[in-house]
Amino acid sequence: MMVTACSSPSNNEVTEKKTQRPILVQGPMPIEAEHFAERLENVKEEKSGDFVFYIGTLADYPVIVAKTGKGMENTAAATAVAIERYNPIAIINQGTSGGHDPSLNVFDIVLGKRTVNLGSLKTADKAENEGIDPTIWKPMDLMASEGSAGEDPNAEKPRFYEGDQALLAAAHAVKDTYTKGKVVDGTIGSADVWNNEVDRIKWFHTKYDTSVEEMEGAAAAQIAKAYEVPFLGIRVLSNNKVNGGKYNPNTASANQEYVYEVVKQYISTATSK
Ligand code: SAH
Repeated sequence: MMVTACSSPSNNEVTEKKTQRPILVQGPMPIEAEHFAERLENVKEEKSGDFVFYIGTLADYPVIVAKTGKGMENTAAATAVAIERYNPIAIINQGTSGGHDPSLNVFDIVLGKRTVNLGSLKTADKAENEGIDPTIWKPMDLMASEGSAGEDPNAEKPRFYEGDQALLAAAHAVKDTYTKGKVVDGTIGSADVWNNEVDRIKWFHTKYDTSVEEMEGAAAAQIAKAYEVPFLGIRVLSNNKVNGGKYNPNTASANQEYVYEVVKQYISTATSK
């Protein structure tokens, strides 16, 4: 574009483009990030540690896809790095998950109205030879105070991170574009654990009202909250131990197709483009 000194409209356009804050879309594994990254335009790749950032545009708006790697630590670090480097206007953490709700099937999608850390637990007080009993472990809220969570009875509760209203509204608005399953609001639980014990899954489902589990969402939500960046988790079921749903890796790209529509919708409504 030609920018001349006297043409104020195009000068404004240029300035606006420079100050637009990108939308950040995170995916842990290559199959959970690269499909979306391939759909971006004007892509430039940057790395930090193991994290890969595909910096591009979608409908002329800046969007960054981050391949974070699996698990809570990678995700927390990749989120902080992205916030510090790119100042995103909103963060969507998306990918595959395992069902906790028997009414959800492989290819159904859960919008994280809430996201919660399932690995943050306090065990019972037992002496030597009194054994271990995970069913009486209590949720522990590490964000309840700056003091010791182990000593604080007020910390004996799960910490739920709320999904951002504007991101949820965008996701609701394009629900019908997804034809491979249902799209429901729910609770996403995260930990560096793959639970295959049905009774343990039921325990989380009852105690935390989880719809699905995965290994990243709550880590990203916690860091997004620390920086006050709007956040939403969007997870497709790739497996559901509770109702015999077998693992299907094709769910990862189906989810990215849907999240692409969500981002497009968010750009057209929530950002001052
Ligand atoms: N079956 C895959 C598993 C990858 S590891 C493989 O062998 O390559 C787990 C990744 O999948 C994490 O990024 C996590 O977010 C997601 N995931 C999918 N289903 C899960 C489940 N039931 N429990 C925990 N994580 C799950």
